[in-house]
Amino acid sequence: MGNTFTYDVVIIGAGPAGMCAALYAGRSMLNAVVLERGFPGGELLNTELVEDYPGFERILGHDLAAKFHEHAAKFGAEFRNGVHVTSVRKREDGLFDSETSEGDIYRSPAVILTAGGTPVKLGIPGELEYAGKGVSYCAICDGAFFKKQTIAVIGGGDAATEEADFLTRYADKVYLIHRRESLRASKILQQRLFENPKIEVIWNTVVDRIEGDEQGLVRTLGLRNVNTCEERNLAATGAFIFVGFRPNTGIIADHVKHDAMGYLLTDANMETSIPGLFAAGDLRSQLTRQVTTAVGDATTAAIAVEKYLKSHGGGATEIIGTGGYSS
Ligand SMILES: Cc1cc2nc3c(=O)[nH]c(=O)nc-3n(C[C@H](O)[C@H](O)[C@H](O)COP(=O)(O)OP(=O)(O)OC[C@H]3O[C@@H](n4cnc5c(N)ncnc54)[C@H](O)[C@@H]3O)c2cc1C
Repeated sequence: MGNTFTYDVVIIGAGPAGMCAALYAGRSMLNAVVLERGFPGGELLNTELVEDYPGFERILGHDLAAKFHEHAAKFGAEFRNGVHVTSVRKREDGLFDSETSEGDIYRSPAVILTAGGTPVKLGIPGELEYAGKGVSYCAICDGAFFKKQTIAVIGGGDAATEEADFLTRYADKVYLIHRRESLRASKILQQRLFENPKIEVIWNTVVDRIEGDEQGLVRTLGLRNVNTCEERNLAATGAFIFVGFRPNTGIIADHVKHDAMGYLLTDANMETSIPGLFAAGDLRSQLTRQVTTAVGDATTAAIAVEKYLKSHGGGATEIIGTGGYSS
């Protein structure tokens, strides 16, 4: 049997949202812990360069992650790395139990879910090798690196269609590569796409491999027509992959209201349909997913948690009777 630890608030995931929530919780003198299955940083660790975080014209994703982490730790938040949360359950007494793969329980009157999401991968040779070197899953983040270039967008849903259109602000030519002969995207997005002279759709085609040059940058996509099996190479310096994005919400044991795509619905205080369970960042239903939106959500969530605890009789020390020790 594992240990039980008690905190005022348990924050699950140490991406930008989790680290920012930790910073605010620490400043509010809450007894907070951040549980992270890997290392602090979240998707920033998969991001080469960030050029749209206010105050930093250009900063490496790793460096921004390290700054967030140092800043949060300075205010006293505790980080536990390599801790994979497997379920979050609300008990009958109103407290939450966040259970880990080691069998430990983190018990708290409030939880902030900041577990982010995962872009669906194509699983083809070169995809991981060239991630951040031409392969991207985020047009807003990386589009500006492809000024006047020829690039490809892979997918056929709303995200692929909208982002292909968006990317023509930078790229001279955008190929949309889709495995079927019609798009799944909404009609208005399709119309915009077909009217854009910089976009050419390659139908009934999949990307089998991504190849680069001696500098390690993307240069060629290996294509295959799914009807004729004909293969050919397409010269492109970028491959933007939009074949799905899954919010990491599978750990919630109870039913929480979500949108049609599975993103968690919250009120203006970032509280989900379960009182005391807050959500911030990429797993929340919202218009866009960026570092700025993640930290904005997290700021609200952490401050709302402080108010929630006050209105429910204080933090864990008052409610549970202990604070942050194991038994
Ligand atoms: C390639 C790429 C480039 C990007 N570039 C930019 C950019 O330039 N500018 C910008 O603003 N945004 C960019 N983004 C988007 C930005 O990175 C995200 O919006 C942001 O990281 C979301 O933060 P988050 O904390 O909500 O989630 P994440 O960053 O996804 O962090 C979630 C964390 O939770 C952890 N976790 C998940 N499940 C569990 C669990 N069960 N137990 C414990 N830990 C768990 C994960 O390991 C991860 O560390 C980019 C995204 C990608 C994919």
